Amino acid sequence: MNRILSRRNLLKFSAGIIGTGIVTAGLGSELVFPQKAVAKDELTPEQALQELMQGNDRFVKRKRKNPHQTFTRLVEVAKGQKPFASILGCADSRVPAEIIFDQGFGDLFVCRVAGNIATPEETGSLEFGSFMLGSKVIMVLGHKRCGAIEATVKGAQVPGQIATLLAAIKPGIESVKNQPGDKLENACKANVLTQIEKLKTSPILSQLVAEKKLIIVGGYYDLDTGRVTLIS
Ligand SMILES: [Zn+2]
Repeated sequence: MNRILSRRNLLKFSAGIIGTGIVTAGLGSELVFPQKAVAKDELTPEQALQELMQGNDRFVKRKRKNPHQTFTRLVEVAKGQKPFASILGCADSRVPAEIIFDQGFGDLFVCRVAGNIATPEETGSLEFGSFMLGSKVIMVLGHKRCGAIEATVKGAQVPGQIATLLAAIKPGIESVKNQPGDKLENACKANVLTQIEKLKTSPILSQLVAEKKLIIVGGYYDLDTGRVTLIS
């Protein structure tokens, strides 16, 4: 385990991806890679969450600053990225992270998949975003009237690989199916909390949380107002 979690080895692994766009070697390789991404200002996890929520507040109030969206910024972060926050959000076209949090190039490490589920691939991506790139907050972001959650709640028969999404969502929403209130909203929120618990089973993420280098929170996006509410 120590070997797996060795920062030195993982840094080499990271540099291979960042520098070349290709994973050029496995963990523990002694090959030499280009240097790690350029560091930017450090935020505490709480400050990172505050920055995220303030961006959403600007968005809701029609006071967007559209930060970091110039070509100058593009060139700056082309040399290396240091996103301050990660989002595990739904693939839904109505929930674009950079817009609803009023951010730009190099700010957010965004993983999107229908139902915002913590699959091994999404979890691995988020481990990379926090352990290697230094993202200080991971927000699992569910949303109102999520189609993937709705199909799961209804027990819909779906073709192809769509069924894998419903299978990943179903166990986590069982506990709220008889609760009073809006069944779909209850399920969307329960799914967020379930996916957070899944992320916390990652040794890499839980270690960062224990070291107070990372917080993992849940958010719920209201499609009608644009407002993100913290739910954990
Ligand atoms: Zn959705």
